[in-house]
Amino acid sequence: RSAITNAWNQWVLGYTPDELLGRLSIDYFDAQDAPTRAWIEAMMRREPFENVVIRRRCKSGGKIWASVSGAPMFGSGGGFQGYRGITMDVTESTEAKLKLEQMALHDALTGLANRRKFMDRFEPATARMRRSGAPLALLAVDIDHFKRINDAYGHPAGDEVLVAVGRILERTVRRSDLAARFGGEEFMVLLEETGVAGAVEVAEKLREAVAAERFEVESGGRTVGIGVTISVGVAVAERETSLDDLMERADQALYAAKLAGRNRVRVEDQAD
Ligand code: GH3
Ligand code: MG
Ligand code: MG
Repeated sequence: RSAITNAWNQWVLGYTPDELLGRLSIDYFDAQDAPTRAWIEAMMRREPFENVVIRRRCKSGGKIWASVSGAPMFGSGGGFQGYRGITMDVTESTEAKLKLEQMALHDALTGLANRRKFMDRFEPATARMRRSGAPLALLAVDIDHFKRINDAYGHPAGDEVLVAVGRILERTVRRSDLAARFGGEEFMVLLEETGVAGAVEVAEKLREAVAAERFEVESGGRTVGIGVTISVGVAVAERETSLDDLMERADQALYAAKLAGRNRVRVEDQAD
């Protein structure tokens, strides 16, 4: 609670001295996130810290990013007296960095995760599978006759359908699951701790949700409502597999769903 920090809290965060008196700096953090918690724990251990980036709350309700560095001060008797340090406003550079990260890991059209984020998430998911022994399921999702939608209503209308299907995917899977756009009109969904029965249930729910939706798209200067269906291939890993192998199996099942007439869910051949 150094004078420097208090001055910073006043000028940058907009608090008056009265409002700060008797309150800890911690009252102005977003203490929920892991970096902030780790930083607070380091201070509890009286360790120095350098360029830790945390979110701070302004009095106005806004949030800014601050980079903090500090060292503990001890009295001649060795007693802890507080931290001496500096805080810098790094909101602009941090937001720019976050935006770049978001762009690198997400699909620009639908906002869903992209292939790279999906691949990043697969490794830790298989590690969790090894520990828990619970299976891991993959859904390969492909829009049926999508080319016809583009041909009949135009490419922008096709894009609108992709966005809407992406929303359905996002709201249908659990928060812990991951839906990604793999390019074109193909999506992948990773379901942790999910066996065949659970995966088929999610796949059916997705298929039904898409089939039931009336997609409103702009075409030729008017709004038209069209129906869309998807086919889904399901593959489940019970033990260690590579993403390539699991995707290949889900794609095979997807292909079988297309052959069987589309608008359906097929599970991989489980003969082996
Ligand atoms: P199937 O039922 O066998 O999957 O038939 P399909 O027509 O959906 O399959 P196909 O793979 O032949 O066609 C996919 C089409 O998706 C071709 C391509 O023009 C279109 N497409 C790919 N990416 C985009 C996109 O970002 N926006 C739009 N509007 N269309 C896209
Ligand atoms: Mg298709
Ligand atoms: Mg396709």
